[in-house]
Amino acid sequence: MRYPAFIPNPTLMTDQGRIFRPGGIVETILTPLPIGEGGRTFGLPGPVPADVWSVLDHAAQIVHRITPWAAVYAVPNLVFEFIPDGYPCREVIRHKESGKDYARAGGISFNDEDIVALSLHSYSMNLISTAYHEAWHQVEKILEKIIIDEIDRSLVPLSWGSAYADSMVERRARCFEMWCMYYEEGMPVRGLSTWLDGIFDGVATGEVAREWMKEQ
Ligand SMILES: [Zn+2]
Repeated sequence: MRYPAFIPNPTLMTDQGRIFRPGGIVETILTPLPIGEGGRTFGLPGPVPADVWSVLDHAAQIVHRITPWAAVYAVPNLVFEFIPDGYPCREVIRHKESGKDYARAGGISFNDEDIVALSLHSYSMNLISTAYHEAWHQVEKILEKIIIDEIDRSLVPLSWGSAYADSMVERRARCFEMWCMYYEEGMPVRGLSTWLDGIFDGVATGEVAREWMKEQ
């Protein structure tokens, strides 16, 4: 069985979120709140189920292990200004005053600003897989191009029906996320059987980030 699509429950509404700073400081924040410097992404109030709160610390630890420099912004409802880009079936929320359209995101990595934003409008396992996914987007900035190119070469051409889902940047993040979720369930993916296992293992354990930070 899998959960059905998220059904908002008004009794779970909250305007509270958390910021997990590098170094272990945790702040409680109130939404609405702009996230990042572009003025296009916001944390909004929303319904947050208990299972998501229960794994939030774990999600933040995942991001800090893989990208120790990143602050994790966890907000009840993460939205970004939506510009039509061919993304399929996106629910758009219109902001009455500005007339701008916003769409929900499960997570967003702001690579220039060392921020990973996570939406708590989720289920526990989605929050964990999203933490891995966004941490991969964030860690790519320290990976050598030769490594990125080699990963791309190992992916088979496949279409999911939209330019967004088919982009290499999204495919790499999804592969890493799925690889890590096997590990989360206790499966022995860390066998280092292939070159790609070795790369994913080094990123997932934080070894790649530790080596990089030593050099800085
Ligand atoms: Zn992504």
